[in-house]
Amino acid sequence: MFFIEYDKLIKYLKEFLGDDKKMICRFCKKEIDKSIAYKHNNTDRAYYCNYEHWKMQKEKSKYKPKKIKKNGEPNERRELTDLIMSYYIEQGIEKHTINWSIETARIKNILDEHKDWLITGLTYTLKYMHDIEEVNLFSEQTNCIMALVPFYYVKAMEYYNETTEIEDAINNFNFSEKVIKIKKGKHKHNRFKEINIDNL
Ligand SMILES: [Zn+2]
Repeated sequence: MFFIEYDKLIKYLKEFLGDDKKMICRFCKKEIDKSIAYKHNNTDRAYYCNYEHWKMQKEKSKYKPKKIKKNGEPNERRELTDLIMSYYIEQGIEKHTINWSIETARIKNILDEHKDWLITGLTYTLKYMHDIEEVNLFSEQTNCIMALVPFYYVKAMEYYNETTEIEDAINNFNFSEKVIKIKKGKHKHNRFKEINIDNL
């Protein structure tokens, strides 16, 4: 009489059927058991963790537009989606859980409402909000980080114009003609050294 443990039997059966194979999810690149992997249809050769990952792979073009455009220039849309993604990651949010349909719908919406605004302007504004104004992009009131961008766009553009004006002024300044001697005050830094709290 034979006695075989149930798990072992399953293992042998899986080996026999070739079902214990590890596959890589095409979307998130995680290793998955072939027996439980999702395959969209028989002609699709790729495997996925689940239906969600298949769907997200299909929608990848939304948030992963090509880096370079047909004319060889960098794609400004990709620069924006990359920036959005980096802020999510910085916040500790797993990149595969980002709701791209909300973010991309918002981008489209903003550009539809403001015909003279540019994608690069939105990217700059988002960066300005993050770096200069230090806006909390993940407040509970907003369901996506692009939501507050319209409120900062004009301010960010003013800031951009001001800083580029200053930059231009610096770049156009001819240093060889005007050499300014900066007097180095020898005792300047030691001025407060003499004061000792214990002596007060
Ligand atoms: Zn996956």
